[in-house]
Amino acid sequence: MGSELEIKGLHVSVEDQEILKGVSLVVNRGEVHALMGPNGSGKSTLAYALMGHPNYEITGGDIFFKGESVLDTDPDERSRAGMFLAFQYPVSIPGVSVANFLRMAMNARVPEEENGGGRGKKSISIPKFRKLMKEKMALLEMDPSFAGRYLNEGFSGGEKKRAEILQMAMLEPEIAILDETDSGLDIDALRIVANGVNTLAGPEMGVLVITHYQRLLNYIKPDYVHVMLSGRIVESGGPELALHLEERGYDWVREKHGNGGE
Ligand code: ADP
Ligand code: MG
Repeated sequence: MGSELEIKGLHVSVEDQEILKGVSLVVNRGEVHALMGPNGSGKSTLAYALMGHPNYEITGGDIFFKGESVLDTDPDERSRAGMFLAFQYPVSIPGVSVANFLRMAMNARVPEEENGGGRGKKSISIPKFRKLMKEKMALLEMDPSFAGRYLNEGFSGGEKKRAEILQMAMLEPEIAILDETDSGLDIDALRIVANGVNTLAGPEMGVLVITHYQRLLNYIKPDYVHVMLSGRIVESGGPELALHLEERGYDWVREKHGNGGE
């Protein structure tokens, strides 16, 4: 079996400034990877680059998904191929319920020529959609009334995370990339993300959880932990690396690897 997601020597620039300076990482199905690192180290840049955000220019290296380079594909194609990025639709959409939104998200990833076949089967008919949504919400122990709420309108941080995790459950991606950005993540939200990942991660899905919160890893048990510093992954290890970071912070990483001359 080839690798599901393979990042090879990736260099990424934003507004002509090089942010990622050669990042290599392999995430297979069935593996949970945590990418950690201090603020500004380039974690979100990696997430955006993986999903094909136009502002993030790939100046070197490559991204392979299921053995093929995705550099020439747009975010929609990457999503249809089975990549999922949690902050794809962080906006609030007045008048659109969580359920409506999920249906749109599912329909959007069915190529027209495939309607009625493959992934399309489960996203086309409303009864099937409802059934799947009910199953996923039960699996995630979510209150059924949540599906009728308007998306992100007045949502707490935890509720936004709930919508995100439910979207991930419905789309059944092969690789999920969750960027736990710096703001608005209280303990409740962290737990929702962690429970979602713990419940959904299995042999069919690989997960890359990006965070600078060591405490998220009190709830998620990653198989691999990586530390990013100044646009490079400078340490990789198992769960013990996260414990080490929790005890000692990032200072030892900086001392060992320098601050990248910044
Ligand atoms: P992290 O997610 O690890 O906190 P980011 O990837 O957000 O780090 O940022 C890494 C560096 O790239 C920072 O120095 C940040 O200022 C810069 N950067 C990221 N996105 C942009 C952008 N859209 N425009 C300009 N600079 C950016
Ligand atoms: Mg970030």
